[in-house]
Amino acid sequence: MKIKDQIIFVLAVVVCLISLTGCVNQTPPTPTATSVPATAATTPEPVMPAATELIASVNTEEPTPPVEVADTQADIRYQLDVSLDYAGHTMTITQTIDYTNSTETSLSEVPLILPPIRTADGFSLLNFQMGTGYEASTYDFQNEILWLTVSPALEAGQRLSLNLLYKLEIPESQTAFGYTDRQMLLSDWYAFIPPYLPGEGWLINQPGYVGEYLAYPLADFTVNVRLSPPMDSLVVAASAPLQSLDGNCWRYSAQQVRNFSLAISPEYQVFSAGTDQVTIYAYLFPEHAALGARAASIALEAWVLYSELYGDNPRQFMSIIEADLTDGLECDGLFYLSESYFASADETPQNYFHLLVAHETAHQWFYGLVPNDQAFEPWLDESLAAYSELLYLERYYPDLVDWWWGFRVRAFGPTGAVNSIIYDFLTSRPYINAVYLRGVTFQQALRDAVGDEAYFAALKRYADSSQGDTFRDADSFFDAFHQVTDIDFTQLTAIYFK
Ligand SMILES: [Zn+2]
Repeated sequence: MKIKDQIIFVLAVVVCLISLTGCVNQTPPTPTATSVPATAATTPEPVMPAATELIASVNTEEPTPPVEVADTQADIRYQLDVSLDYAGHTMTITQTIDYTNSTETSLSEVPLILPPIRTADGFSLLNFQMGTGYEASTYDFQNEILWLTVSPALEAGQRLSLNLLYKLEIPESQTAFGYTDRQMLLSDWYAFIPPYLPGEGWLINQPGYVGEYLAYPLADFTVNVRLSPPMDSLVVAASAPLQSLDGNCWRYSAQQVRNFSLAISPEYQVFSAGTDQVTIYAYLFPEHAALGARAASIALEAWVLYSELYGDNPRQFMSIIEADLTDGLECDGLFYLSESYFASADETPQNYFHLLVAHETAHQWFYGLVPNDQAFEPWLDESLAAYSELLYLERYYPDLVDWWWGFRVRAFGPTGAVNSIIYDFLTSRPYINAVYLRGVTFQQALRDAVGDEAYFAALKRYADSSQGDTFRDADSFFDAFHQVTDIDFTQLTAIYFK
């Protein structure tokens, strides 16, 4: 089935009655539709059950009353019950989504983003059931988006419930959704509802060749991971602290986080550091275990500084994951750092390992707490995360500030517009030069122009978490500066922006 066919299925009567399994000694619901593995990852083709098969799964009991009115709970809640075959590289996921329309707009369509349609070796939607009280629904698979036509429309404040059952074949690849011979990384692995921006609509991007593209709104998570078959020797890292480990089942709960990732390996050695503000864990491969305590303590130093500069971060938890990846990558509650950075570290702060731990920790503010569109305005999080490296050195290793400008920035002779979009680039070096490195040069020029007091006051306003989950843009950034200074920024933006 080709994506472009835009097949639309119509369900006659849909009531949701999937009984969600807990974690202990239970199996996911029996699939009610035939699954077919998708084809090779290079040309992923989502596989949908035939409409008749879906209809066959529909329970014909009397529909329960229409959508419930929202209570005081989170607008978006996910429960993910995962049966993971680590050695077989497959996972079966039973997912419940509770979504309250907080958009002040009547929604007749709601998108579900399913990133593994693009990245998994196989994706099979085994069952899909929608809401209570809906008389009809249609859905439409395009790329990694499942568009739900909601009838009656979901009014502001009303709640929609969805149940999905799907199976993924995890690809062998050095990516944030993939496995190698010693590790499995699970990011962007489940269905989610994207942000809805007032006056603009759903924030949905397509992947580029560089950078990040998915935008997640804050949500509450309950995640239960059961190994099937059981394996004794695995170490599981996650975006949130482990709530309980019942035999073979890892249980997690996270409130108001952007997404939920897992990293699993039989080899991880675990280190930690903490204060009353935050607990940091570091998961390292044995050959780099000597760097474990240091990684955790660098991140802790950075966390303390950023809390002071940008404001408290309610996350209070972060994991550092050494990974079979080519670079670093931020997620909410954890970040991955390529094993190559651990391998090339020395005992000084003058290496990428040290700088990137500080950099990725800053993303728990600029990305985690303070959201922006990473595809169309990546400078908002990346220039600030990169500039945070310098602020970290200023605080803890002031003698290394000049070294940093030479090593990190001038050595690359960066060119390009700070406000470039990810789709402007085919390779990462020009992207990093423009967005990150000219980005930090811009941040320094801005700071020089307004002075330290105004610069840090404006950053704090920009990051102010009392704005809730409002996606920030360039206007938000400059508005924060206009609140603390009268300086005209047009000359600066003429130099650095397109
Ligand atoms: Zn970054």
